[in-house]
Amino acid sequence: MSNTSVGVVGVGSIGSMVLWQLAKKGYDVTGFEQFGLAHDRSAAGGESRMFRTAYMEGPEYVPLLKKSKLLWKELEDETGFDLLTLNGGLMIGPKSTTRIDNVIQSIKDFDIDAEILDAQQGKIRYPQHQLNPEDVMILDKEAGYIRPELAVFAAAERAVALGAHLYLHTMVDGIEEVSDKVRVTANGKTFEFDQVIVTAGPWTTKIFPELQENLKPRKIVMTWYPTHHLANYKPDVFPVFARTTDEIQFFGIPTLEGSMIKIGSVDTFGEVDPDTIHRDVHLSKLAKINDAVKNYFPELKSDPTRISVHMDGYTTDEHAVVGAVPGLKNTFIMGGYSGHGFKLAPVMGQIGSELIDKGGASFDISHLNPGRFMGMNKTI
Ligand SMILES: Cc1cc2nc3c(=O)[nH]c(=O)nc-3n(C[C@H](O)[C@H](O)[C@H](O)COP(=O)(O)OP(=O)(O)OC[C@H]3O[C@@H](n4cnc5c(N)ncnc54)[C@H](O)[C@@H]3O)c2cc1C
Repeated sequence: MSNTSVGVVGVGSIGSMVLWQLAKKGYDVTGFEQFGLAHDRSAAGGESRMFRTAYMEGPEYVPLLKKSKLLWKELEDETGFDLLTLNGGLMIGPKSTTRIDNVIQSIKDFDIDAEILDAQQGKIRYPQHQLNPEDVMILDKEAGYIRPELAVFAAAERAVALGAHLYLHTMVDGIEEVSDKVRVTANGKTFEFDQVIVTAGPWTTKIFPELQENLKPRKIVMTWYPTHHLANYKPDVFPVFARTTDEIQFFGIPTLEGSMIKIGSVDTFGEVDPDTIHRDVHLSKLAKINDAVKNYFPELKSDPTRISVHMDGYTTDEHAVVGAVPGLKNTFIMGGYSGHGFKLAPVMGQIGSELIDKGGASFDISHLNPGRFMGMNKTI
């Protein structure tokens, strides 16, 4: 075991993977989680997450996603759980929009296994979707879905089996660098570590208030719709999808529990305080996503049978904040994943461990540099 001790504040989507990767490397690592393990009150709840590699958010993510795919498999092999199912993913939208251009660029630059269908071909192959004549449908064969609660559980339990310490129902209320150590207070006790990584998701700005202008916790609402045609929405015939239209950006996942289909909007429902978030949703707020279901999925009922409320931390440029905290020696931040961080969680675990190993990552993560929002040199 390494003599370096590391504290991980927040054992959710990213923190559980950081814990796993650090424990694997033999660090003396301790995780703190304010709720129970794999709870669904924050960014890891809601049954499923999309995994895709031909990336609408920009080709710079593809190397991270390719590594993440390998690490998902590694975590499955180490724990025996099925976490990532690659049943394919459809990226749908009008030609020549930034998001579709990014997908095509990702495929070209990184040789992703994919097929590009025009609207006519798409209608024949995937008749569940109502397409517009100007739409293209790109099948990313390296896409699929992840089970988020199970993934957090698997990574944290694996970390503990490898020697990590885990304090559940333990809220960290102070982090302070004292000489060469980082002092953490939690549930009235004080701990000292050589280094600390903060993976607090929507609570990140409670720990780093200077980020408040550029990182905001936002409410996300998920919706599930029923149909008389369930067989057409099973994973083997209905790939996950992400779609851009003039009115809305939305996504969907096949039926996993066998009674309804998750289709959600990427729109958030405003800024919230993560400690006092209201989990009720007024039906009028669902009009846009219900309309999208009505317009683009003729076989689905457009009134959801299940609604659930979650959160994520969103930055102003919708890229996360990953690296050393400017002005501090031994404290790192990994937060603000802006609604698209789950698929990256294992590679972020590796990057967290590399920050501890050598203060930097073996991937190009310059677009995630905390210095753009924090410290003396912030640019936005
Ligand atoms: C409904 C929904 C759907 C999404 N869909 C997708 C998708 O399809 N694909 C995708 O890639 N991404 C998706 N995302 C985004 C992705 O889930 C998030 O970006 C990612 O989970 C963020 O992880 P995190 O570790 O930063 O936050 P979290 O998972 O919320 O983890 C933070 C943890 O820190 C704990 N914590 C905070 N403060 C303290 C403290 N002081 N002391 C102790 N513990 C603390 C919290 O309790 C929490 O467990 C979605 C997000 C949501 C909410």
